[in-house]
Amino acid sequence: MAAEFRIDLYSDTHTKPSQAMREAMAQAVVGDEQQEADPTTNRLQELVAELLGKERALFLPSGTMCNAIAYRVWCDPGDEVICDKTAHTISSETGGPSALSGVMMRPIDGVRGIFTAEQVRDAIRPIERHSPVSRLISLENTSNFGGGTVWPIGEVQQIYATAQETGLKCHMDGARLLNAVVKSGAPSKAYAQHSDSLWIDLSKGLGCPVGAVLAGDNNFIERAFRFKHQFGGAMRQSGIIAAAGIYALENNVERLEEDHCNAQRLATKLYSIPGIDVDVDCVETNIVFFDVIGTGLTAIDVSNALKAQGVHIGVVGETKLRALTHLDIDEAMIDETAEILTTIIQKQLG
Ligand SMILES: *Cc1c(COP(=O)(O)O)cnc(C)c1O
Repeated sequence: MAAEFRIDLYSDTHTKPSQAMREAMAQAVVGDEQQEADPTTNRLQELVAELLGKERALFLPSGTMCNAIAYRVWCDPGDEVICDKTAHTISSETGGPSALSGVMMRPIDGVRGIFTAEQVRDAIRPIERHSPVSRLISLENTSNFGGGTVWPIGEVQQIYATAQETGLKCHMDGARLLNAVVKSGAPSKAYAQHSDSLWIDLSKGLGCPVGAVLAGDNNFIERAFRFKHQFGGAMRQSGIIAAAGIYALENNVERLEEDHCNAQRLATKLYSIPGIDVDVDCVETNIVFFDVIGTGLTAIDVSNALKAQGVHIGVVGETKLRALTHLDIDEAMIDETAEILTTIIQKQLG
């Protein structure tokens, strides 16, 4: 059973809705979402469409469903989706692309989740009778298992140009798009302009309890609406949760900068602990991967010792851990985590 942790760096999904967000939810005006009659959901969709410069947007229960629906809209069974080898759609969506859309995944060997237009061109299959059809390019911004890496806007632009030349579509998994926007200073619209479909998660750094919003042109959203229903994602008085999304867009976007500062602070402190290996320069947003190989401890040993003191950090490999900062984490918690880790490791190294 999951325990409560005093300092929870396991994921930015572990945020709790604030009092003000809960009040916004309690006061939401609601209706039947399936009939597009929930005013709060409609308002959230308008806000996201506007933010991303797209014709329409669709409120969904999760980011996973955004990816599933976008792949389903763009692809036929047997088609191929080009993405990075670390893609969340490959590793963490229970084989959904294969189960729900019947697609093949064509992983690219990118650098921390980022690949180039040239790599895309090499991965596109020639049109001939025996090959699967290359149909969709799927980018993740920021790249989760790449370490929170931000896509350079120029590369996204070139990949989109390649897609247009070759008749492919571009999808952006924007679970943490707003982290990329806050970090890079490139507006959301600049990324969206070079994506045929994209989405933002409300339940990651934005601090909502649930929800994600998928955007695209009218035709795309019209088809997405059908698959939302088919996949069981249509809701009723969803304004209760959509209100949290509106609150988050109005209050929790600019503060993502604090999360990025705290991640830098954590990485810098970890770097000074003997036996810990961390690439501080690679920490661009709110995700910090580090390796405890030099301590003689396994990642599970370290994680358990931390848990005993109320600190939660996820294990991602034999000696690798992943920490995420978010709106329930402040500077003092970062400092305390580093102190606790120092003590654990000093005890081991003697
Ligand atoms: C979390 C995440 C998802 C899935 O979002 P959920 O809202 O948890 O379903 C998809 N892609 C990336 C990159 C993520 O980090």
